[in-house]
Amino acid sequence: MTAQLIDGKSIASQIIEKVRLAVAERRRQGQRAPGLAVVRVGEDPASEVYVRNKLRACERCGVRPFAFEPAVTIAEDELLTLIARLNADPDVDGILVQLPLPGHIDSDAVIEAIDPRKDIDGFHPCNIGRLALGLPGLRPCTPRGVMTLLQVSEIEVNGQDAVIIGRSTIVGRPMALELIRASATVTVCHSRTRGLPEKAANADLLIAAVGHAHFVPGEWIKPGAVVIDVGVNRLEDGSLTGDVDFRSAMDRAAWITPVPGGVGPMTVASLLENTLEAAAAGNLAAP
Ligand code: NAP
Repeated sequence: MTAQLIDGKSIASQIIEKVRLAVAERRRQGQRAPGLAVVRVGEDPASEVYVRNKLRACERCGVRPFAFEPAVTIAEDELLTLIARLNADPDVDGILVQLPLPGHIDSDAVIEAIDPRKDIDGFHPCNIGRLALGLPGLRPCTPRGVMTLLQVSEIEVNGQDAVIIGRSTIVGRPMALELIRASATVTVCHSRTRGLPEKAANADLLIAAVGHAHFVPGEWIKPGAVVIDVGVNRLEDGSLTGDVDFRSAMDRAAWITPVPGGVGPMTVASLLENTLEAAAAGNLAAP
């Protein structure tokens, strides 16, 4: 078997085009462009690349970007003051604080300080709670992007056995909530999981979000499974690779996402969808 590729780059472009048209329609109706504030603390090179991609995507679809780059030495209360200012700014519909933050800043406190209606990363406890309850709200971008990939590719989720490797608050956990909502039977694995290869081999839908290059070998994959590789790992030669051993997985899976060009572009596309929704509704979640 040779797996079919799920082309995240192309699906993300289609979504960004839809957002662009919706923004243009808003403007035609006399409304302002949605505004997205992006806060990057310090000079972490990976964060710089991620933020640059997000700001470029804003430009592509007419979302107004507001970039903030406080020094790595910024005090937590100064950052909280900036968040409070952005919460109150009527031109800002979405606030994104690029993670990770420097060690002296409590990321949870910063995320909780964001108005849930502007929390376009969907990390605020209020939005995670709404996702858990199946209520409308701003959904974490990477899991939302994965659900869109599955939907656009017409891959059945209802009733499938899904296994997620990784339980982080930004990927694994909200991914589990999305899949439960879509009526999959979900197993969440992590570093303490026993018998991981057997659990993975039971998956109709296998989602890897570990952060270790080539962690999932082809022999763990059930023949005909759908494999979503969330991992982004940089090799010594500078190239990017996923958490799944792509070559051996291609021989077993029915569908697979490449890295790069799979989940990554969908995260950015979902961010723009969230920004548009935050601008349109303004009241998706009660503060
Ligand atoms: P993370 O916070 O480091 O979480 C990694 C998860 O993997 C943890 O739950 C950890 O278990 C689990 N794990 C680690 N070693 C394991 C092992 N030997 N066996 C089983 N589970 C193990 O990472 P993350 O933020 O979720 O990101 C995961 C990957 O996705 C990274 O490569 C990241 O760069 C990538 N990512 C990509 C996108 C995108 O847009 N494509 C977005 C976000 C993240 P414990 O909880 O027990 O420690």
